[in-house]
Amino acid sequence: MRQETRQIADWMTIFNREETYVLWGCTEFAESLIASIGDIMKIAYIVDRNEQICGKSFAGYEVKSVKQLLSDRRHKIIITNHYPVTRNAICEELKRMGYQENTDFSYYQYFISYWGWEYQQKLAVPYMEMPITTLCTLRCKKCAAYMPYALNRKNRLLESLKADLERYFCNIDWTARFRLVGGEPLLYPRLKELVEYIGENYRQKIGEFTLVTNGTVIPTEELQKTLVRYHVNFFISDYSSCGHPLTSDTQYDKLRKVLDNSKIKYVFSRTLRWIDLGNPLQPSGLTKEQLIERYEDCKLDRRSLIDGMIFPCGQLGNAYIAGIASVKECAKDEIIQLDVFNRLSRQEMLRELLRFDVENAFENGYIAFCDRCKGEGALNQEYVAVGEQL
Ligand code: SF4
Repeated sequence: MRQETRQIADWMTIFNREETYVLWGCTEFAESLIASIGDIMKIAYIVDRNEQICGKSFAGYEVKSVKQLLSDRRHKIIITNHYPVTRNAICEELKRMGYQENTDFSYYQYFISYWGWEYQQKLAVPYMEMPITTLCTLRCKKCAAYMPYALNRKNRLLESLKADLERYFCNIDWTARFRLVGGEPLLYPRLKELVEYIGENYRQKIGEFTLVTNGTVIPTEELQKTLVRYHVNFFISDYSSCGHPLTSDTQYDKLRKVLDNSKIKYVFSRTLRWIDLGNPLQPSGLTKEQLIERYEDCKLDRRSLIDGMIFPCGQLGNAYIAGIASVKECAKDEIIQLDVFNRLSRQEMLRELLRFDVENAFENGYIAFCDRCKGEGALNQEYVAVGEQL
């Protein structure tokens, strides 16, 4: 699934406003796509594998079964699932049904970025996360943010976060999904100020604004009001099976009540197992070809904003913030330096963003940190229990 670089004009001859589209997947990415460009896109309906939601409505559109596509070939398809294994499985299923990748179907990121530019004159980014602290309430052995390995356990300076936001949003017109992540972001002592700063200055440039939490900290009343004022959602990773007293059903019920009362939108995400990303201190020993294969299988599309740079993968961002990866070990084209980016024309910035954000076109064919991360694709079949504590 290696993505070729394609000119915008070529792209627009295939996926343009005259076509009608079917979204595959009732996901938060479908919602952010609709929020970004739904008003200029002809969406016929949504399909989903979950038969229980077929016939119902999602984000204002009818949900139909995937089988519907076999008898209705009029539309182009947009995959709205970003989890590597699911996304790749949908891609293969569509190919078996006779659809051609990047001709009959493509991915939500392409539409947010290409359409944002073509039809809305915006430099649009599908997803960005910003780690704000490496402090956490839990000590998960296989923490995806590499907290057990973190050499720097600290809160990032508010001034530094503000500087990053300013450097980013002075050029980027729209970010479909923007997330504050940790560690545990609710431990960040100046969270209210940070949310206010983003809310006052950049909220109109953000679609979905989310705080990712492990659900172990109840936000204060004052913080709740700020979160509501700026429409900040909660994404709560449910660790209830790990047996830690802070992740008990009682704790989660308490949080649910607080969020319901204050009208903060939230999603509880419960998974049965975690993928084991491996030891980030240990190089894999894989050949270049094997690393390309690993990257192609994973291509995690979580970009991350830290220290005036955009990192291509949240896992690299996590390792960097934990102090166990450095920019020096990355290839030059893997990181966007926002100060350099500032000196480019809007057209040049767009090309760079598309290369980086949509086409995943890196000179090596992978990013250097893939050598220390087993990835989330189907090639990695190693799983661990959710939230096992150290
Ligand atoms: S660093 Fe890991 S998660 Fe990121 S793209 Fe490479 S294999 Fe995937």
